Amino acid sequence: MKSLALVAFLFFGMTVFCFTSTFVSWEMPELEEYKGLLERLVGKPVTGTYRLIIASSTGEFMELSGLGYWFIAAAEDSTIFVQPLSLVPNVTQTVAHEMCHLFLRQYRLPYWLEEGIVCCVTGEWIGRKELILDRVESLDYSGMDFMTYRSYSFSCWVEVSKILRERTFGELVVALGEGVDEQVE
Ligand SMILES: [Zn+2]
Repeated sequence: MKSLALVAFLFFGMTVFCFTSTFVSWEMPELEEYKGLLERLVGKPVTGTYRLIIASSTGEFMELSGLGYWFIAAAEDSTIFVQPLSLVPNVTQTVAHEMCHLFLRQYRLPYWLEEGIVCCVTGEWIGRKELILDRVESLDYSGMDFMTYRSYSFSCWVEVSKILRERTFGELVVALGEGVDEQVE
């Protein structure tokens, strides 16, 4: 009975978690352009290595990330979760997007600002158009559906692009960051 339970457990474990785990670092040549843009924006060297978990199914991605099926990727602590690669249109850009989020977390910016800055670095909204949502800074993105979240991300990018023409990243960190890292200027 005991061995049967063990076999059942192993089988369960294997069928539920079939993800691939690897590491990604800002030193990777494919990320050089994104790294350069982010460094110019924050005014300091960008480094970091993160665990990358590639889910084997959308169900697994949802279970691992705690997000809806329509998200492509997510980042938490120093781990990035992505959907099965066949569902990710631009893997490098998607991973760079999540790595930017993880790097920027040290500044504890409001999410709309962080999302907008990330999209300025990846350039993913250039040449694309979505509905603009008013006052992105007051919106809660957590319960949004797919189309609303797209509009939200696009609106964050539009808003932050405007702000960055008038204010530096350092000024935004001082004005809007919560608990500024001492090394940040
Ligand atoms: Zn994002």
